[in-house]
Amino acid sequence: MPRAIVIGGGPAGLMAAEMLLAGGAEVDLYDAMPSVGRKFLLAGKGGLNITHAEPAEKFLTRYGSRQTQLEPWLQSFGAQQLRDWVQGLGIETFIGTSQRVFPKEMKAAPLLRAWLHRLRAAGARIHVRHRWTGWTADGGLRFAAPSGEKIIRADCTVLALGGGSWARLGSDGAWVPLLAARGVAVAPLQPANCGFDIAWSTHFRERHAGQPVKAISASFTDASGVAHKRNGELMVSAYGIEGSLVYALSAPLRDSITAQGSVTLQLDLAPDRDLARVLAEVSHPRGSRSLSSHLQGRLGIKGVKAGLLREALRAAEMHDPQRLAATIKALPLQLTAARPLDEAISSAGGVAFEALDEHLMLRELPGVFCAGEMLDWEAPTGGYLLTASFASGRTAGKGVLAWLAQQGR
Ligand SMILES: Cc1cc2nc3c(=O)[nH]c(=O)nc-3n(C[C@H](O)[C@H](O)[C@H](O)COP(=O)(O)OP(=O)(O)OC[C@H]3O[C@@H](n4cnc5c(N)ncnc54)[C@H](O)[C@@H]3O)c2cc1C
Repeated sequence: MPRAIVIGGGPAGLMAAEMLLAGGAEVDLYDAMPSVGRKFLLAGKGGLNITHAEPAEKFLTRYGSRQTQLEPWLQSFGAQQLRDWVQGLGIETFIGTSQRVFPKEMKAAPLLRAWLHRLRAAGARIHVRHRWTGWTADGGLRFAAPSGEKIIRADCTVLALGGGSWARLGSDGAWVPLLAARGVAVAPLQPANCGFDIAWSTHFRERHAGQPVKAISASFTDASGVAHKRNGELMVSAYGIEGSLVYALSAPLRDSITAQGSVTLQLDLAPDRDLARVLAEVSHPRGSRSLSSHLQGRLGIKGVKAGLLREALRAAEMHDPQRLAATIKALPLQLTAARPLDEAISSAGGVAFEALDEHLMLRELPGVFCAGEMLDWEAPTGGYLLTASFASGRTAGKGVLAWLAQQGR
């Protein structure tokens, strides 16, 4: 029986292990942490958005410039196959708002428990507290284990080491120099689905950090001249902004900051009314009412939205109806930096697709396959990250089996 090693016990590594076991391989899975699937469990904390129910063509567009590379993974294991697979573990799923798919209980823990039980029953040996640290000169895998260094040999290896965010959950990106040293092209890991820094005034930060800004639209033109626009809500934080609307725009925002040092995001605080209507409302005689109650009464602008206007305009400008209306429709926020990778929901960058064959085997290292977030793709939140991580794990697992067969093992 061929022996396969999987390193990394997140969704991608566990899925690769499942494919290998199904194909008759003996599988040992190693993870640096005291237990596997820690990021997956965290993903389940606010409701595990496992995939998305939009049509497959639309789904694929979420992977931006990597659609061609991801298409074969998703064709064989897309959203519906993932839902069926989850159901096979005894977990029902449902389609929630905006077509996002969740397990009925919303959590990751029951799914992970059932899955690990099934993997162990199929023969998987799971070794925790084993940190992979590279290769020996003759190709042995080196692990730092509680009992000291271990050298392990195998017919083939799947690396599923994750990206570089939330390092305390295990995926710390420490694999980047290990692969680069072996001639594997790796694009630098960068924050994806992340917040951004804004130099708020102390007054604004103290009053409004932690507050959501609801029912707005945000737009900007990126460094290559492409216009982006999204509706939704964001969250003001002490350092700047975060939340679903910001994450959805985070890739081009990040790339524009890298290209030009900063980027201006424009918020439309009244997206349901055009500029002429907003101007009419702010110009409407307000009698003895304060400007604040006038804005609240006529446009529903109060609290953090009013705070944003005062942050953008001087007192005299607040009383200039043209200026005020224009700012309500296009409030400029200067974003100066993406938040650090460790705080991001996911990572962009990783092992370059040119370094891999279509089975996800490293061209420089025959018999070594890669899967999951450690590959150079990114996607917004909405279940796309997990779907592609699972699907790539299957692709790599199947690739290993084909390679083993080709080697006559
Ligand atoms: C707060 C948060 C919420 C999220 N919510 C969602 C969501 O709702 N929907 C969604 O689709 N995605 C979500 N994600 C993203 C999703 O969790 C990841 O994309 C996914 O877990 C990536 O899977 P992976 O198997 O590639 O890597 P990981 O899950 O990161 O697993 C990698 C594993 O490799 C191990 N490892 C790393 N280095 C070594 C080493 N040197 N030796 C041994 N083991 C090592 C790690 O310990 C870890 O167990 C969320 C992420 C975060 C942080």
